[in-house]
Amino acid sequence: MIKNLINGAYVESASGQSQPVYNPATGEVTEQLGLSSADEMTAAIAVASAAAPEWAAMPPLKRAACMFRFNELIGKHADDIAREISREHGKTHADALGEVSRGKEVVEFACGIPNLLKGEFSRNVGPGIDSYSDRQPLGVVAGITPFNFPAMVPLWMYPVAIACGNTFILKPSERDPSAVNLIADLFHQSGFPNGVLNVVHGGKECVDTLLDSPDVQAISFVGSTPIAEYVYQRGSANGKRVQALGGAKNHMVIMPDADMDQAVDALMGAGFGSAGERCMAISVAVPVGEGTADALIKKLVPRVEALKVGPADDPDSEMGPVITAEAKDRISSLIDSGVKEGASLLVDGRSMSLQGYENGYFLGGSLFDHVTTDMAIYQQEIFGPVVSVVRATDYDQAVTMINDHEYGNGTAIFTRDGDAARAFADSIQIGMVGINVPLPVPVAYHSFGGWKRSLFGDHSIYGPEGVHFYTRLKTVTSRWPGGNREGAVFSFPA
Ligand code: NAD
Repeated sequence: MIKNLINGAYVESASGQSQPVYNPATGEVTEQLGLSSADEMTAAIAVASAAAPEWAAMPPLKRAACMFRFNELIGKHADDIAREISREHGKTHADALGEVSRGKEVVEFACGIPNLLKGEFSRNVGPGIDSYSDRQPLGVVAGITPFNFPAMVPLWMYPVAIACGNTFILKPSERDPSAVNLIADLFHQSGFPNGVLNVVHGGKECVDTLLDSPDVQAISFVGSTPIAEYVYQRGSANGKRVQALGGAKNHMVIMPDADMDQAVDALMGAGFGSAGERCMAISVAVPVGEGTADALIKKLVPRVEALKVGPADDPDSEMGPVITAEAKDRISSLIDSGVKEGASLLVDGRSMSLQGYENGYFLGGSLFDHVTTDMAIYQQEIFGPVVSVVRATDYDQAVTMINDHEYGNGTAIFTRDGDAARAFADSIQIGMVGINVPLPVPVAYHSFGGWKRSLFGDHSIYGPEGVHFYTRLKTVTSRWPGGNREGAVFSFPA
């Protein structure tokens, strides 16, 4: 049974509730995950609350010293972590290693957070009056994370929160919880006091307990849009700070002057890498002009047909299975709907089967042409290995289409035209923009976040925005008047 990590110790949930964890490549049950009760979550919050004052009072450099050791240990164990990810998620080993490395970069950033907690000081803001401000931790904060980056997304949150002086409760995805526990183990070996990071596995009951607890000051959420919106509304109605990152539909515009080979390579990796289960995956290609569209399709079809789908431990695999049998069915039925609604299915990945892995949740890559904006496959996030081509007559139509979509996570333009690229970056209603870069995931010292229904709340995640999210500003105005007594002043100081 996969356990919780509370106050530095592994404890099995006593709720009597559990659910299986699968290997998506084989369909086998590998573990049972204990699902914690509301009372168990409340007890974990109490542990984090008890640890908070001492951790907040610890000098930031001492906190950072633990973070440096944590960073070292993640580096040393990157291979083991990647294997845990692949076993429960299904992504290839190389892809899982990339995930660990992007998560580790946030830990590296967190090592330098003392520099960002520095305040500002103004002498003589009035006669004999000085003013200073600094950023202080919130107390207990919590993170709720999705299945698709079981190591990286939690690392977007707790290293930043903890380096800022908060204590943390992590409620990971139920589908691939083992990498989280392995990394939490390394965290405790790094010298952090018990109770600073607590991992509580569970479902909705655990999430609701976090959202309602008066002892939790802030919630970071990453997952699908309906749940992000729910978490944002319930958490903020309870007076908490909430950053809730949701789903996406990321478009890649291909201009007539683009380097088509480069664009096709980019689209293959960004559309089908990790079986399309990335919130920054490109799921819509928008070639501008019929000539561009025909050239794109001609090069793309053989590449999608030749995709190497296989288990994570096969070094030749370019893409693994999807996460669950239900996900496979949902993606297949969305493909069915695309066919029914009149899109041209040029490559059909629905009936793919892999010898020796017949019970795994594999799908081949699928490619649609002539998709229109009223179709479900265009409007919904498919979160699978399916790319839709929507032909645009001109640049303006491409931009309007992207701006009108309810999601606003990422987008990319492929072009050699600097004017077009600059205009695109300026005007597009999307949070993260790539210019000849298909997956513009910001590095750890910038911040990650979409617009529109891809993010609820004011703050993007990690980087400087993460520091602001997990701290609040205090400003102190002080006077040491000596012998000069002013007497009572009733008017506002002019
Ligand atoms: P999900 O919304 O199903 O689950 C996310 C978390 O919410 C999990 O921890 C889960 O236990 C919890 N949860 C699920 N249902 C709940 C409910 N009814 N009440 C309270 N909590 C609930 O998401 P997922 O399927 O694990 O992840 C895929 C989704 O995450 C996709 O939509 C993807 O785009 C999105 N995502 C977004 C980003 C981003 O940065 N914007 C990054 C990664 C993934």
